[in-house]
Amino acid sequence: MEKFEVKAYGTYAAEASLKQLTIERRQVSPKDIEIDILYCGVCHSDLHTARNDWGGTMYPAVPGHEIIGRVTRVGTEVSKFKVGDLAAVGCLVDSCRECSSCKEELEQYCIPGFTGTYNSKDKHLGTQTFGGYSEKIVVTEHFVLKVPENLDAAAAAPLLCAGITTWSPLRHWKVDKGSRVAVVGLGGLGHMAIKLAKALGANVTLFSRSPEKEKDALDLGADQVVISTDDVQMSKANRKFDLIIDTVPYAHDLNHYTPTLNINGTLVLVGYLGGLEPMLNTVPMIRGRRSVAGSVIGGIAETQELLDFCGEHNIVSEIELIKMQDINEAYERMLKSDVRYRFVIDLASLKN
Ligand code: NAP
Ligand code: ZN
Ligand code: ZN
Repeated sequence: MEKFEVKAYGTYAAEASLKQLTIERRQVSPKDIEIDILYCGVCHSDLHTARNDWGGTMYPAVPGHEIIGRVTRVGTEVSKFKVGDLAAVGCLVDSCRECSSCKEELEQYCIPGFTGTYNSKDKHLGTQTFGGYSEKIVVTEHFVLKVPENLDAAAAAPLLCAGITTWSPLRHWKVDKGSRVAVVGLGGLGHMAIKLAKALGANVTLFSRSPEKEKDALDLGADQVVISTDDVQMSKANRKFDLIIDTVPYAHDLNHYTPTLNINGTLVLVGYLGGLEPMLNTVPMIRGRRSVAGSVIGGIAETQELLDFCGEHNIVSEIELIKMQDINEAYERMLKSDVRYRFVIDLASLKN
């Protein structure tokens, strides 16, 4: 298979900083699209992967799965895109396309496993996949998305992960006018969840540990904010919500939130992967027929639905544009929850 080299930013070890390195991309085959990356959002999952928080990181690791760029080459069988189009790549670059999940356009639940944009086995090159902290990427057409031209390209990048990860549960649990939705944590995912739930017509509450974020949450569209460390405010929220989207990246006490679900309500975890500490108390679950669920990103068709919805409603992320060289500092700020509300890398800084 023919390859070419591109500049990228990545890390060789969990304890090491990210730095410039060279990776290989495949030359376009008939069904492929080559994209010159303009912008890439910075997701907390990038940091978890770079630092091997979940185990299984293959080094060198080149993160980045909120990718927007311009098409520079298309394969001979490509029909959806032409050179010069604005195109996007999210968290998936391949799946088996044959299993029951793939047939239902739920590639994120592909039974043999989807190919992540980074840190998955690359079926073409045999190496690990490398993400969007790079000059270019080559992806099979099916996994490339169209970006509404009216959206600011840099601010649209986070729709590809933070957006779809919160959109998918909002749609699955049928949020619409009059639904009562709460979001736990005001970071990248949390701020998109507020905007999207609001645009679907829900009444939206933010649970946050950070009182200084209250005004921002209201500006983003939240109807109210509950400071989760304030017991009085928490008890007033009892039985209020049909759906809670919990974006907290670390183990935390869900028993704090389950009583705030209405009867039949669902708390859906999107932030934390792993065992719960302390354990889940079943009393509020049983007494209120409440559920705790999980959800991962979204399928390709659903991601396109989200991008189109955002185009129609003019929804993008609140971003801080950074240079590639600032990524290590950005990770440190993300760990302090000091992100308003998504870093996006301007890849021009890597190309110069
Ligand atoms: P982020 O921007 O860092 O935001 C996380 C927010 O959670 C923070 O802003 C903070 O909000 C709150 N928080 C942080 N530490 C906390 C703690 N110890 N206890 C309670 N609250 C805490 O992260 P993100 O990019 O939104 O990602 C959130 C998580 O989702 C990450 O673990 C990421 O890997 C995961 N993720 C999952 C999927 C999926 O498909 N399921 C997709 C993308 C990302 P406040 O200051 O308001 O409390
Ligand atoms: Zn992500
Ligand atoms: Zn599959």
